[in-house]
Amino acid sequence: MTASPDGTPPDGPADQARDARAGTAGATRTTFPVLAVVGAGQLARMSAPPAVGLGVRLRVLATDPDESAAQVVPDVVLGGPDDLEALRRVAAGAAALTLDHEQVPTEHLRALEAEGVAVRPGPDALEHAQDKLLLRRRLEAMGVPGPAWAEVRSAQDLRAFGERAGWPLVLKTPRGGYDGKGVLFAGSPDGAAAWLERAAGEPLLAEEAVRSTRELAVMVARSPSGQAAAWPVVETVQVGGVCREVIAPAPGLDDDLAAEATALALRLAGELGVTGVMAVEGFEVPAGDGGPPRFLVNELAMRPHNSGHWSIEGSVTSQFEQHLRAVLDLPLGSTAPRARWTVMVNALGGDYPDLFHSHLHVMARDPAVKVHLYGKDVRPGRKVGHVTAWGDDLEAVRARAAHAADYITGTVDG
Ligand code: ADP
Repeated sequence: MTASPDGTPPDGPADQARDARAGTAGATRTTFPVLAVVGAGQLARMSAPPAVGLGVRLRVLATDPDESAAQVVPDVVLGGPDDLEALRRVAAGAAALTLDHEQVPTEHLRALEAEGVAVRPGPDALEHAQDKLLLRRRLEAMGVPGPAWAEVRSAQDLRAFGERAGWPLVLKTPRGGYDGKGVLFAGSPDGAAAWLERAAGEPLLAEEAVRSTRELAVMVARSPSGQAAAWPVVETVQVGGVCREVIAPAPGLDDDLAAEATALALRLAGELGVTGVMAVEGFEVPAGDGGPPRFLVNELAMRPHNSGHWSIEGSVTSQFEQHLRAVLDLPLGSTAPRARWTVMVNALGGDYPDLFHSHLHVMARDPAVKVHLYGKDVRPGRKVGHVTAWGDDLEAVRARAAHAADYITGTVDG
């Protein structure tokens, strides 16, 4: 406690009288909640700045002391997400436990819940982000539009689906895929043979290859009290199954489609009981016959997501702050955009390892772009950072963000 304005020393008579009035006599410490985060990747790292602002103490479960978030969060528990004892250690005394990545065994999360830990999102919701087959079944039961799909275990199953849906089709491992790993475009039964063999009778998800105009994502947040919020629908540009660019809002998006996709994402968050931020990734498809376009759901992520990084600078409340608010059951923040256009471009690891040095050129060339580096070693194709730019001229904004990201990764050198 510092000296009071009248100059009396700390805890002098004036302070004591004030404390007594406020009913806080004898209170010497203010407590701030600990939020436990399973995983210490870039999503946990980017949660640190808003945690600082909100007075939230993050504690991360890291497999390595040098992981992205472990570099910036002092409270680190070492251990893997499969280790229940490690999960107990990170959750001990925390107001809630949340996730930086989704591959945490749900039986462990159920055990923690039974022990009184507030797991957010809870395992019943999370399963739908972990298992693409489970998600497809649930979406179908809810009548949510998506690609034609089938569970396949054999070449025979696949041929039967191919006859219905047409070739090429898309084959997916139901669990553990990311950045297009675990997704195969198969032109014929022969093209899928190796995958079926490797799956050894475990079910795979087969989907029709959607002919989309583009890919869209809707980010929403929902708190345990049931308050929910949505950001504007964004366009995501994928190259080789990896997100390259996100444009907020999706340019030229039909108003009805935007409203429909947003309502759908909010409905999913409510019906699945999601707590925290969720990304609904999907396809914009023309309905044909000149009808209105439609939104087909591809997959869900129940945590901050690459399609929401633009919100750090581009929205009144970033997805990272909103996730903290939501999982701690605080009132949600405004999701209003701060600029006409905000564009995020991922920096993927290339030949150029000295990421920090790239600041010299990027910052000098364009003082208004914002660079986020994740403290990761460069490996080809790995997401090592991202860049955000915003303004009124979409093509100029896209070019500025792309140039900065390409320079960081060594794709351009001037
Ligand atoms: P991951 O879990 O690796 O992100 P996704 O299911 O999102 O896997 O697929 C990665 C990318 O593959 C998508 O962003 C999309 O570009 C493409 N893709 C996935 N499913 C389909 C599909 N049924 N039809 C067309 N393209 C698809």
